[in-house]
Amino acid sequence: MWHNGDENNEAQGGLLMNNALLVIDYSYDFAAPDGKLTAGEAAQAIETAIVDRIREAHEACQPIFFMMDLHFEQDDLHPESKLFPPHNIEGTEGRALYGRVHDVYEEIKDEQNIFFIDKRRYSAFAGTPLNQLLQERKVDTVTLTGLVTDICIMHTAVDAYNNGYGIVVPASCVASFNPAGHESALDHFKNALGATVEP
Ligand code: ZN
Repeated sequence: MWHNGDENNEAQGGLLMNNALLVIDYSYDFAAPDGKLTAGEAAQAIETAIVDRIREAHEACQPIFFMMDLHFEQDDLHPESKLFPPHNIEGTEGRALYGRVHDVYEEIKDEQNIFFIDKRRYSAFAGTPLNQLLQERKVDTVTLTGLVTDICIMHTAVDAYNNGYGIVVPASCVASFNPAGHESALDHFKNALGATVEP
């Protein structure tokens, strides 16, 4: 069930904040032990925390956006083709949501304000209807979860900042194959983008 904005605000202790949860690139290829571009154990370690966030957001009737990298086979003109091995290819299991994040998505996917949206660049805003969907729902703060901290989460955070959204990043819900990049991204979210970085 979807509540209106006022009820949502009351649910958050009267703070004037309408939050949306973004789950970014938590795919088999990015998270599974044998994924094509996996962040490995670091990615698997955030699974439970992401599931908990999804359940919390769902109970609070917040919109939830599953934003998913989409690539095509032999798409040599895509800029990532020079940088990374093929991953998240259209029609493969590699771009299915991973683990229990997949399970909880299957439970709630038919409800209102649960979205699964393809993206073709690092940022969840680039070339997607995300900004319009957030604006239509009067969302002013986005909570960013998923993979990987210093690439897709970073680019999404920068676009969220440029579009005027408040940003929350739970550190327990983001991971990277680059531990140093992960840490420096968390610093950047806090110090340059004014994000609330939660434990
Ligand atoms: Zn990609």
